[in-house]
Amino acid sequence: MNNGKVTLVGAGPGDPELLTIKALKAIQAATVLFVDDLVSDDIVAFANPAARIVHVGKRGGCKSTPQAFIEKLMLLAAREGENVVRLKGGDPFVFGRGGEEVEHLKAAGVQVDVVNGITAGLAAVTSLGVPLTHRQHAHGVVFVTGHAKPGVVGTDWQLLASTAYKAKLTLVIYMGVSAAERIQNELLCGLPASTPVAVIQNATLATQRHITTTLGTLADAIAGAGLASPSVIVVGDVIKGVALAATHPEVVRAA
Ligand code: SAH
Repeated sequence: MNNGKVTLVGAGPGDPELLTIKALKAIQAATVLFVDDLVSDDIVAFANPAARIVHVGKRGGCKSTPQAFIEKLMLLAAREGENVVRLKGGDPFVFGRGGEEVEHLKAAGVQVDVVNGITAGLAAVTSLGVPLTHRQHAHGVVFVTGHAKPGVVGTDWQLLASTAYKAKLTLVIYMGVSAAERIQNELLCGLPASTPVAVIQNATLATQRHITTTLGTLADAIAGAGLASPSVIVVGDVIKGVALAATHPEVVRAA
């Protein structure tokens, strides 16, 4: 039985020009789009004017649509032969619950394609003009969530901190702003208080803001600047380069 197809599409961090060509083509071809909160209106505007747009995030202060219900709606639309696109911020497979959606749709016999997007952590760091890895400062990078699923044991920050210190890793923390104080205190068990940190809100959008600080003053600096979600927290020596990039703005990615 043909149960149709759903394409999970990464909308990137916000700037529409950071969409992949494949993502743009999928958005234009869709007859129904299920759109997450973090996807900007400029990107949704690429959809066919006749397409049905279903916002499933927390827009307008409403509660977000329960995951099981979104999956049910996608399943129904796919079975009706619609060209279904699930549009997600960043990359669908980086903290986007894309994995769960693929599992459930495939279990229901729906074909699923996934189109990568530029993940927020990558774009946020680039927008400051510094790299995520550096032969001198960082031999690798860890993308980690600051927000665990309720009931699940969260990240072992102390272990992560000592590993990052010993192995010279950059930490890119998603969904971490509201738990910044706890994350700071636990990371301080394995990383020096002087470790450079950047927090970037609304990366690649006109509303982008950032601060640079140190691990020892992270939570106060976030509160002082009034930074909120969506933000990424980047911890590691690569952030030392932000001051240098600011004095040489020509190295920062073209806006
Ligand atoms: N799939 C997405 C992540 C979804 S989780 C991706 O690959 O980017 C949501 C978190 O992503 C936010 O809490 C924030 O930490 C981060 N995020 C998403 N868009 C962002 C942006 N434009 N600027 C800064 N952080 C962003």
